[in-house]
Amino acid sequence: CRASRGSHVTPVGKDDLPIHGVAEVLVGVLGGGQLGRMLCQAASQMAIKVMVLDPQENCPASKLAYHHMVGSFDDSATVQEFAKRCGVLTVEIEHVDVETLEKLELQGVDCQPKASTIRIIQDKYLQKVHFSQHDIPLPEFMQIDDLEGAKRAGDLFGYPLMIKSKRLAYDGRGNAVAKSEDELSSAVTALGGFDRGLYVEKWAPFVKELAVIVARGRDNSILCYPAVETIHKENICHIVKAPANMSWKIRELATDIASRAVSSLEGAGVFAVELFLTKDDQILLNEVAPRPHNSGHHTIESCYTSQYEQHLRAVVGLPLGDPSMKTPAAIMYNLLGEDEGEPGFHLAHQLIARALCIPGATVHWITQYLYYLYCGRNAKATEDGSYHHCWTFHGQCRKAPGFNVI
Ligand code: ATP
Ligand code: MG
Ligand code: MG
Repeated sequence: CRASRGSHVTPVGKDDLPIHGVAEVLVGVLGGGQLGRMLCQAASQMAIKVMVLDPQENCPASKLAYHHMVGSFDDSATVQEFAKRCGVLTVEIEHVDVETLEKLELQGVDCQPKASTIRIIQDKYLQKVHFSQHDIPLPEFMQIDDLEGAKRAGDLFGYPLMIKSKRLAYDGRGNAVAKSEDELSSAVTALGGFDRGLYVEKWAPFVKELAVIVARGRDNSILCYPAVETIHKENICHIVKAPANMSWKIRELATDIASRAVSSLEGAGVFAVELFLTKDDQILLNEVAPRPHNSGHHTIESCYTSQYEQHLRAVVGLPLGDPSMKTPAAIMYNLLGEDEGEPGFHLAHQLIARALCIPGATVHWITQYLYYLYCGRNAKATEDGSYHHCWTFHGQCRKAPGFNVI
């Protein structure tokens, strides 16, 4: 029936992409998490079929994808098999088998963004080296191979000192802070030891964390979404305020740095650039994600083109859409809920009902996650062009049972 998902997959070649005049394409996404799911939602309006590769049988994207191939995006044979069926290959997670992507590119497989970009980004140290070579401002950093090296870094950069794993990091897992030299050893142990591949960053005394989503088309055209403020709780993005409340000058600086960072990478798609704003108005780059990002969920409701639609437009070669906001301001709360069967899960619908009492609020319920979004209508511009936000509610969000809207 019209609503059913396709079980057979017709390979669509590179020459059949819309830029060559064919209306329908098959986009392969490595990863089927919440971002993959939202890509499927956007694709459903665009005559684009999304196929996902994810090891989890009931991954968030599985029900919405045109086809879900159950398998690891970190396994070479599986990625090769998956790639054969897709017109263009993209990612919703950067921790994929990049050697295989490089091999596939040599065989003519169309990866967007390019494997070279994934290689740089999936190793945070390599990422830092790359951006410093492109004159992007960053916290100072250095590789550490042993305790002596870590002590030298501490002497150089001072404390607190941020120690990071080079690879496989997300949600702050892979970061440890040493407040003094005495804590170096335990911080390194907590990260799994030097064999894991570690480096350190000088502590960035930020007053705000910002993010800019940058879209790049296949023709290298670049468009930036308005810079947002991100507030983390236990290293997980908790609140996003869009646009960030700051002067035009800082906004321009953040956008320029984000755009230059993305220009130094190869391939099409949306990229999220995480930034620190320091008290002396410096912008430093934290890291880049080569894919849609949780700081951009609000774009679904608050921008003319959502980051998901934009990513699909970019990778298949359609014209990029307008990234500007159609509401004066938006706020997103990321609520970590509970899995089906866990205590508190049954409260999901009560929570959703409460969230929907707020005019303009939208809920995105994604298995474990509840996105709660308010597109405010009462933000006004001040004389210097910055926004003064009048947030009309404050949320206190914890595990689902503690959720409370004031
Ligand atoms: P994500 O889930 O965004 O991928 P991650 O695991 O890659 O996170 P980072 O983005 O490197 O981790 O760091 C997580 C958080 O730690 C940052 O958002 C910021 O709050 C803090 N942080 C990271 N680097 C520094 C630094 N050099 N100085 C101070 N705080 C930092
Ligand atoms: Mg990261
Ligand atoms: Mg981060």
